[in-house]
Amino acid sequence: MNTNAESATTSSQIDQLSDAAREFVERAPHGSLIDNEWVASESTFTTIDPSTGDVLASVAKATQGHIDQAVAAARAAFEDSEWSAKTGAERGELMNKFADLIAENALELAELEAIDNGKPVKLAQIVDVGNSVRHLRYFAGWASKLEGRTIPVGAPDTFVYTQRVPVGVCAQIIPWNFPLLMACWKLAPALTTGCTVVLKPAEQTPLTALRLGELAIEAGFPAGVINVVNGDGEVGAALVDHPGVNKIAFTGSTAVGREIGKKAGEALKRVTLELGGKSPNIIFDDADLKAAIGGSFQGIYYNTGQACNAGSRLFVQNSMFSEVTEQLAALADKAVVGPSLDKSSRFGPVVSAEQFKRVNDYIQIGIDEGAKPLAGGVAEATDGGFFIAPTLFTDVDPGMRIAREEIFGPVLVATPFDSLEEVAAMANDHEYGLAAGLWTRDVGRAHKLAGMLQSGMVYINMWGITDPGAPFGGVKSSGIGREHGEENLDAYLETKTVWTSLA
Ligand code: NAP
Ligand code: MG
Repeated sequence: MNTNAESATTSSQIDQLSDAAREFVERAPHGSLIDNEWVASESTFTTIDPSTGDVLASVAKATQGHIDQAVAAARAAFEDSEWSAKTGAERGELMNKFADLIAENALELAELEAIDNGKPVKLAQIVDVGNSVRHLRYFAGWASKLEGRTIPVGAPDTFVYTQRVPVGVCAQIIPWNFPLLMACWKLAPALTTGCTVVLKPAEQTPLTALRLGELAIEAGFPAGVINVVNGDGEVGAALVDHPGVNKIAFTGSTAVGREIGKKAGEALKRVTLELGGKSPNIIFDDADLKAAIGGSFQGIYYNTGQACNAGSRLFVQNSMFSEVTEQLAALADKAVVGPSLDKSSRFGPVVSAEQFKRVNDYIQIGIDEGAKPLAGGVAEATDGGFFIAPTLFTDVDPGMRIAREEIFGPVLVATPFDSLEEVAAMANDHEYGLAAGLWTRDVGRAHKLAGMLQSGMVYINMWGITDPGAPFGGVKSSGIGREHGEENLDAYLETKTVWTSLA
């Protein structure tokens, strides 16, 4: 690892922000957004800059009373004609205005994301902000296209049609790895279908959702359509439990997802769960090696390994195993890991002291289990930022904990294989099924294996790309439901069947 982290441990990054971003951070304490008003709380928590360990801002922790108010505001807005009587075209226009404002404030949002989450600012601007704008615009287009059907039923003189109607008040709970983008992935399908929302960002990264709330008001969304409450898992749980919520959309850990799924089942609330992964990435010996190695490197280490669809289990065909792992290790050694606002950083810190400890513990577990760190290793404890070098393990037995459990950090485990059948079995021998990828020039082999892999998404000769129109989500313990595309609308719509006698 080439680290440029030293400066970060001695000076705050706040001074490097643009005026707009600095002024936003310094406007603390930040409130909750309820009914288009900013509401303070007696109880606050702080968010930190993971590049330095410095406190950035204090944020209001929502109380049960605030959650009651936010859900009531969302319910009133759902029923109020100012929102419910809007045509799809009008909702689409509002969403496009929202997207325009995000694009106009792209640098400020990227800086807030970078300083709060730790990701390099340039990537935050291109990927996180850029994809947020694209997501809202794509779903804005759907607002005027939510069509029912006419059904040719058996009864004579009977006319039957269906309508697609919004499900109601949505609780949306998001993680810290792509805070702005996850907020937009959640808001866009809800807004286009005419639902209303109470959004809870992760406590580690509240800033961009709060700025998004300001932009929603500026865009002209009626009061109560978008509410933002902050706090920890307790706040998320209170939102899930609230009887006024019709639908829950959650992205985060499988453990919390299971708990939410249980509660949603009991209360018969609609639910979608976007959970963890341990995605297999398979390189055959006929692959374009340069593309496979570069793609696999980004596939695991992008966003410092903190992506649900990270390609964290690498399988390489035996004859190429040493060459591929040595080249990956060489890239890892050269990776520039550093503070998020330093333009030369390509990889930032992990998000928190908790993640730093968790990922380091896993690296130590891997060493203790007998795996060999070909690159990286246990990071030195720092009194500043939470930097961990890209780490690559070989000599990995598929039964080891580092091969079974989601680490959610820059750690790749590599295992050799001989045949397609063998690697398909190893890839599928896992509780998760979010993404899978394969690299080969043999088209028949590629599509045969794509059909065999138990995952919601398969990448052939590429890794990790998303598009608002292409369904995103997993099978097995990786979740329930799909985000993106037409499939995502189903999660926010009920079908109403209307029967009419023509006799
Ligand atoms: P997490 O606990 O599942 O948190 C995700 C979101 O759920 C956060 O907003 C969190 O609030 C909230 N939450 C926590 N407990 C809740 C509960 N009982 N009811 C309702 N909401 C609740 O994930 P994490 O602790 O941030 O990260 C732990 C691990 O989860 C990671 O190491 C990784 O393995 C996985 N993860 C997966 C994804 C993904 O994209 N699939 C993203 C992030 C993390 P607070 O954060 O404020 O507590
Ligand atoms: Mg933070």
